[in-house]
Parts: sequence; structure tokens; C-alpha cells
Amino acid sequence: MVSASKIILLTLGEELLLGLTANTHLTYIGEQLRLAGATMHANLTLSDDPADIEEHFKHYWEKSDVLITSGGLGPTVDDRTREVIAECLGEPLVFDPTLMQAIEDRFAALGIELTENNRKQAYRFQNAEALENPNGTAPGIWLEKDGKILVMLPGPPGELRPMFENQVMPRLREKDILGGEQNHIQLRTSGVGESSLETLLQPVFDKREGLQVAYCAHLGMVDFRIGYSDTVDRYDELVEIAYECRELLGENFISCGNDSLEKTVANLLKRKKLTLAIAESCTGGMVSDELTNLSGATDFFKGSLIAYTSSSKEELLGVPAEMMQQHGEVSMEVAIAMAVGISEKLESDFALSTTGYLGPNGGNENCPVGTIYLGLHSPRGTWAKKLFFKGTRASIKRRAHAAALDWLRRELLANEKLDDDAHSALKAESDKILRSLK
Ligand code: ATP
Ligand code: MG
Repeated sequence: MVSASKIILLTLGEELLLGLTANTHLTYIGEQLRLAGATMHANLTLSDDPADIEEHFKHYWEKSDVLITSGGLGPTVDDRTREVIAECLGEPLVFDPTLMQAIEDRFAALGIELTENNRKQAYRFQNAEALENPNGTAPGIWLEKDGKILVMLPGPPGELRPMFENQVMPRLREKDILGGEQNHIQLRTSGVGESSLETLLQPVFDKREGLQVAYCAHLGMVDFRIGYSDTVDRYDELVEIAYECRELLGENFISCGNDSLEKTVANLLKRKKLTLAIAESCTGGMVSDELTNLSGATDFFKGSLIAYTSSSKEELLGVPAEMMQQHGEVSMEVAIAMAVGISEKLESDFALSTTGYLGPNGGNENCPVGTIYLGLHSPRGTWAKKLFFKGTRASIKRRAHAAALDWLRRELLANEKLDDDAHSALKAESDKILRSLK
């Protein structure tokens, strides 16, 4: 069963509207629900203004089966959510000595003096259950009223997340709000644009009535999600469709689910017990940073060097000064020399290198701002390739990082093809991933 309940999230906080804080509660709660077989119906972000809260709360309470709010439960005057919503629902707010004691204990443990406004957080709706907040002072609220559920959670992610996972999710599950099954699968691709991807895959989708497909392009990759809106479990059908797509995509298929490019590359390296070293110039360590965010990176990642200037490229990686004078620091020759240099220094099987002009200044007629050379060293050979990206420094950097990892991924797959055992291991693993997503 996939849940048909309407779950709506109201995220409160002016900082979200001003773009000062990213609304990560949307992605976090959205993902938690999706993985448990429920879909968030809507999310509205609003300021802490009491009139706004009142207007939107009333509207969305009417429309939802489960309404979740985040933020505004703090002790300061701008945190009015609790009071405004209590009034909207006609729920009396009562002082709870147990909650007060928990707040006092927390302040005592931290050695901070309790101020009068903190008492505000010890008030709860008379008919609601308080959700314990082990990482903060503002408890959450769980209220069942008019056949609906209201969940109110504090704003800080470090407080909201454990409360959501340990207290809200089990209660939603108990109330049969969560479906327990996922009715869609996401596939990640690279090397094919959004429109070509649609043209390629449409014949597979046309055969299935009611199949919903959504595309999302980012960083040279395109994700697409296939799913059914039915409440019955059609996951097996989706797995079959995913396989058909995968077959058509060939090497342009990266992963199923949310597996990142880094994780895919890491899995390929680990499975074949191969090692990687990186020499980064324009990406400034970004490729290494992303790879070392994965646990178990020591199994394949030998290390990296950020060689930003020509002298550091020469001293640390052995790139000849004459080569840089003749061809320029941003050149095919230098990218190759960097990749070879780091693979020799760190004795790795594979090596990546990046050198380019991020702008807004610099570059030249042949290599304008946005030109990137990537180097790739593998047991089969060493190559460089020239790419060009438009955008800000940050976006060119991110594109270069993704392109480097994708190139390595393709080379690892080419290596993989030589070995039938490894190929069947890859298939078995992806079978496992698809099944585990269920
Ligand atoms: P407290 O005031 O006790 O910290 P609160 O419940 O009043 O808790 P807020 O003041 O609204 O929460 O927010 C606290 C912190 O949480 C702020 O740093 C805020 O930017 C962050 N935050 C709030 N909402 C979100 C959100 N949707 N996504 C990410 N961070 C958020
Ligand atoms: Mg706030």
C-alpha cells in the first residue's frame, strides 16, 4: 500500500524567505516520507508574522490529513507559532511543570541562567502530547483533532531531525499514515540531454498506461523519476521498466535511487580493489572533498594535492616548467602531466587532474574563461580532454568536478567490461540496490 494521506508542511521563518537559510526541512521530511511510502502533498514557507500564520494555518489545516509545522517555537517574541495556532484551534495552552523541569535541568546542565521568556516553552496544548526535544528546550507538539493530526516541531535541524525520526515517524506509522512501500524509482544519467533522454526512453514509457515520468537536470546529469500515483504496490513493474531504461542507456546510466556520482565511482573502485589519486588545480579540492565524504574512502582513495600555481605544479607534481611556458598552465599537456605526476607519487591505479580558468578574469584567446582540461590516468593509458562551461566560478567548479568523476566512471566501466565476473557482480549489486529501495 502507498499512503493516500495528505501531508502538508508549513515551514516558518523569515530567514527562509530572505534566502538566508536553505529550507532543508522540506528535503529532509520529504525524503523521510518518500522512503516510507508517503508523499508530501505541499510545502508553504511563511514569515513569523502572526496574521500570516493564522491565515495560512487555517487554510492548510482544512486541506490536510497531517499538518506539520517547523520553527517559531523558541522563547523570543518573534516565536509566536504556538500561541497563534492554539488560538486558531481553540486549544487552551496549559503550563506543564514537567516540561518546565526539563528546561530547568537543561539550562542547569549547560550552566546557563534561565530567563523569564523561557517559561513560554513549558506551555503545551491542553489536549496534545508533548514531543520530547533531547537537543533543545522547545518541545514539539502532537495533536489529534477533527480526524486530523497536527505536528509542531522546532526549527533547528539538529533538534527537528531526531524528533521527526524517533517520535513522529513511529507515530505516523502506527496511525497507518505511511504506506510502507515506495511507488517510484529514480534513475540518474549523464551524457544525454533532457530532451534526447525523453526521445530515447519514450517508447518504453508509452507501453505503460498511467506511468508518470519527471525529469530533473543538474550539473551535466539528468535524473528521471518513474512512478504510479496508485495506492497499490506496483514496485515490481517499476523495477522492470528501470531495467529496460538501463539497457537503452548503456554507459550513460549512473545509478538508481539517490546514489551520487561519487558513490558510484567509489563502488566501482572498491569492487575491483583499485586505487585513485587526484591532482586538483581549478577545482581546489572539491573532487577529493566529495569522495572523502563517503565512509570507507580509505579503501580506494590514496590522497590528493591541490597544486594551484605553476610553481606548485612543478614542485609537487613534477610538471616541467618549460611545458607550462610552451603550452600554458591550462592545457592538455599539463592535465596529463598532473595526472601522471600524482599517480606516480601516490602509486595509484587511477588518477584524475583538473586545470582551468574559472574567471571572471584570466583566460586567453584559445582558452577563454570557462575552459577546463581534465586529465585521466588509468592502467590502460593517460588522456586529457578539453571542456567548456559557462557560469559563475562556483558553478564552473562544480561542473568540472562532476565531469571528472563521470569520465572516471566511464573508464572504470570500460575496464569492467574486460571481466565477466565483475560484470555479473555489478548486476547483482544493482539488483540488490533496487530491491533495497523498496
Ligand atoms: P529556537 O528559537 O529555540 O532556536 P524555533 O523553533 O523558534 O527554535 P526558529 O527560531 O524558527 O526555531 O529557527 C531556529 C533555527 O533553525 C534557525 O537557525 C533557522 O534558520 C533554522 N531553521 C528554521 N527553519 C528551517 C528550515 N525549514 N530549514 C532549515 N533550517 C531551518
Ligand atoms: Mg524562526
